[in-house]
This record gives sequence, C-alpha cells and structure tokens, in this order.
Amino acid sequence: MKCPFCQSLDNKVVDSRLTKDNTVIRRRRECLTCTRRFTTYENVEEMHPYVIKRDGRRQPYDRQKVFEGLRLACQKRPVSVTDLDEFIDAMEAHFREAGLREIPAQEIGERVVGHLKALDDVAYVRFASVYRRFKDLGEFMDELQVLLEDKQREGKAAPGDKASEG
Ligand SMILES: [Zn+2]
Repeated sequence: MKCPFCQSLDNKVVDSRLTKDNTVIRRRRECLTCTRRFTTYENVEEMHPYVIKRDGRRQPYDRQKVFEGLRLACQKRPVSVTDLDEFIDAMEAHFREAGLREIPAQEIGERVVGHLKALDDVAYVRFASVYRRFKDLGEFMDELQVLLEDKQREGKAAPGDKASEG
C-alpha cells in the first residue's frame, strides 16, 4: 500500500473493519514516513476458505471470530489492535499462498496460541485455557508447565519491552 501523499510503502494499520456485507475490509492506515492517514479498501471475496471443526463439520472462515477471540484474550494487556490485525493478515496470507480451501480449526488455534505465546504470557494462558477447554485439565496443566519451563530457560525477560509505539 503506497502512501497517496509521499508514495512511501511503510505504514501501519490503525483501524480495520469489515463492511456490513463482509466483502470489503476498510482500513485506516498511517504513513510511517509523513504520518498522514489514508483509507484503503481491500476485497475479501477471494478469501473464502472453510474451517473444519474437530467433529468434522465445516463452516465458513470467519475473520471476526478469530479477531474477537484474540481481543478477549488480550484484554487489558499491552497488545494493540494493530498487532492482532497484522497477525491475522499474516495467517490469512499464509493460507492463501498455500492454496488452502479447507483449514482445520486446530491449525488456526495452534497458530493463535503460538503467536500469543510470543506476544504476551497472560493473553496466551487465557486463550489456551479457552481453546483447550474441551480437553482434560491435565493437558492444560502440561501447557502451563511448558510455559513455565520456557520462562526459566529464558531467564527473566523484561515485561512490556516492546518497540516504541507511534
Ligand atoms: Zn506518506
């Protein structure tokens, strides 16, 4: 996406929403070079894969559902809407490039869990606890155990040590 003012290619998404009929994503972007804002409209019609649930049922992929899950997990955490949007963009791009028409729900879940794990521990545990609720508690405890062991290995990482915002 080129900035219409200075032609720079570096920008960030500051807001993103679907139009009512779910066919177009309207994005507010901010140019990182001249800081001016502009709006882009991106067609989502090409992106109509199905999600295969664990019980074998299929349902249309729903970006909003993924986004809401992430947003809930990240409530009151230092994770921006832009972070979440960019992650979903990257995930969708991956599926598109792989030419996947049907995506196991598990694959989406694992990608989200993996991303949150790298982004924010609290959001990760929240999401993982919901995502895996239909499995037994032991599995969730295993997950927590792995997380704790990872933390011990890494030593103490500074919390909230993220790139500057804006
Ligand atoms: Zn610009």
